[in-house]
Formats: sequence, structure tokens, C-alpha cells
Amino acid sequence: MNSFQPPRRFLMGPGPSDVSPRVLAALARPTIGHLDPAFQALMEEIKAGLSRLMNAPGYACVPLPAPGTAGMEAAIMNLLQPGERAVIAVNGAFGGRMADMAGRAGALVVTVDHEWGLPVDVARVEAALAERPAKLVAFVHAETSTGARSDAASLCAAARRHGALSVVDCVTSLGGIPVDAAGWDADVIYSGTQKCLSVPPGLSPIALSPRAQAAIAARTEKPRNWLLDFQLLMSYWGGEGGRTYHHTAPINALYGLHEGLVAIFEEGQQAVIVRHARMHAALAAGLEAAGLTFLVAEPHRLPQLNAVRVPDGIDEAAVRTHVLDAWDLEIGAGLGPLKGRVWRIGLMGASATPWHVRLCLTALCDALAAQGFAADAPAALAAADTKLAEP
Ligand SMILES: *Cc1c(COP(=O)(O)O)cnc(C)c1O
Repeated sequence: MNSFQPPRRFLMGPGPSDVSPRVLAALARPTIGHLDPAFQALMEEIKAGLSRLMNAPGYACVPLPAPGTAGMEAAIMNLLQPGERAVIAVNGAFGGRMADMAGRAGALVVTVDHEWGLPVDVARVEAALAERPAKLVAFVHAETSTGARSDAASLCAAARRHGALSVVDCVTSLGGIPVDAAGWDADVIYSGTQKCLSVPPGLSPIALSPRAQAAIAARTEKPRNWLLDFQLLMSYWGGEGGRTYHHTAPINALYGLHEGLVAIFEEGQQAVIVRHARMHAALAAGLEAAGLTFLVAEPHRLPQLNAVRVPDGIDEAAVRTHVLDAWDLEIGAGLGPLKGRVWRIGLMGASATPWHVRLCLTALCDALAAQGFAADAPAALAAADTKLAEP
């Protein structure tokens, strides 16, 4: 057995995104004990940093020790007891995953189904709530399987009007478009580290409102999962009254998250959002000049996840193989009903740079030309550069 040396890659798929050298360096710092006073100071800084990033003052903010799906599972399993009603908007793969989990929690699940590529329809969610009260409403803010953005403020407001708790999947939105727990009056927000935070996968930041915490405290039956039981977790992460051992925190992974947060605050949260929007505008102009079109209508497009239609007669998988082999570039395939019909191009975190935009346009035009599709690479780059030159 030899040491593993990963190939050089540029990550422009649906996650993970490129990880900056400073985050990689932080991950390699010496491991210390998880009850060491210095480590406890780091935990407090991470909690405060997550609260700032999600604008979640007064919320319990912690990074769960597993990838984004852990945040989803923690939200669903802690809030729902068997027999309770849950309204779940499904407009892609991740809404479907939430509905599956809610069913496993024993809830009565009502899904509001949408065609993939559309944002969640607030009026239809509200109609499902008006029919019969529900314990919670769950939806995906940034649906990574399609690149559609939903109106989190309106959906959380609809939940409040009907006395339901709101659960918002912000795995792909956090760090790429504004996430505003307090402004939305959301109850649970969760995310992941490997999308727009540009930290390796393996952690799931989550924020719970005081209302969500009260609902958990009022449960008549314990959640059936132990690792993600919120009350047990908070005996470890809460800090008040001393910490008691629950699990061993993924110490070095948390160094990485901390450094990722420092990098975002140094650049400025607003500047980071603007950078994602600008890189998207440049990529979109380039793709359109190359003769490609988007799945999602312009007003609902996510800057950080671009679902691009595969032109007729093009072998979708061969294009991905070509850009990986010739350009070390990873882009994503379509999922579910979009399999073979779209590519998913990520502009997330450290992968949202002018250089990545140019690499992607060059590599994609090259791969399309190899299949006889006349994609004009110089025109695509010129269109992107024109956008990049705009202030
Ligand atoms: C990636 C993703 C998840 C799942 O995160 P993992 O880290 O893969 O477990 C959940 N929801 C959305 C919207 C995602 O993009």
C-alpha cells in the first residue's frame, strides 16, 4: 500500500468545490484533545461565526459531525414525532430526500410536487397548510439538482401564518446567496461545508430558533436517532454548565471550517455574494455565446449552480469525460429526470473566480467541438470577459 496522491482537479460540479490552500493548511495543524480549553475556545468561535454567517442571533448554531444530509436528518428527526403532519415541497432530488426522511420519522407526509427546474410555489404550499394544520413545512432554498432558487422569506412567512415550524435546506445557498435566518424568521436552517463554504465535506452547520428548541423540549418521546439528538448534542456544544462527553468532535475538520469562516469574513459577506453573482453573469454570457441554454428561467437561477441543457445529438457523459481527461475539470451530471439532459456547473466558493469561468468555457467548447458541435470558444470567452469588465 502506498500513500494516496489525488490527481490535480478543478472542481466545478455540484460540490465539493475547490478548497483553498489556507483551509488545507488549517486542516493539517496538530490535533489536540476535544476537551482541551483551547479547543473549547475554538468551538465557541465557530458557533459565533456560524450565527453571524446565517444571521441567526439567539439561535443555537453548531456544526454537526457529518455531511449536509446530517443537518436534514437532525431537523426532521428532532422536530417530528410519529403521527405529526409535515408539508414538504419537492422540486428536485433534495426535497424528495426530506420527504423520505419525514416518512421514516413516522410523520404523515404531504408533498407539494413540482416539475424539476421550477422554484417552490408559495401559494400551493400555503394551500396545503390551509387544508389542515401541520407541525412543519420543509423546503430547499437552493435546489442543487436543478439550479432553481426558491423564495425562503415568503415560504417561512407562510409557515408562520399557519403555526408551522419552517425547515430550510441551505446546503448550497449558504455563502453563495444571502441566508437570513432572523430576517426570514426561519426555525431550522442547515447547510454543508463543501458547497459555497469551500471547506471539505464532512460537517453540517445547523441553526435552531428558540421556537424550534421549545418544540424539541416539549416532545413526549425521544428522537429515535442518538448521534443527532439535539438535546444530547447541546450537552456537548451548549457550553453552559460545562461540557459533557457526547461524541468526539472531528477536531481537524473543525479547524478547516473555522478557517473557511475567517476567509469569508475577511473578504466580506456581501463581497462574497457579489462575487458569486458576477461570476455567474460572466459564465452565463459565455455559455449563451457558445450556443448553450439554461434549464431554469432567468429570475430563478442560482448563481452557484448552473444547469445547462445538453444539445441534441451530444453525448452528455463523453463531454464530462473529455473535460476531466483533457482539462482536469470536474462538472456534474443531471440527476433523476434530468439524467442525460443537463450538466450541472458549480461556481461555489473558491471555484467562483474569473479563471474558473474561463477554464470552464474553454474546456466545454473543446469537448463540444470534439463531437462536431460548433461552439465558438473565442466568442464565449469574449462575452464572459465583457461581463467581467463591468464594475
Ligand atoms: C449537497 C446537498 C445536500 C446533501 O449534502 P451532503 O453533504 O451530500 O450530505 C442536501 N441538500 C442540498 C440542497 C444539497 O445541495
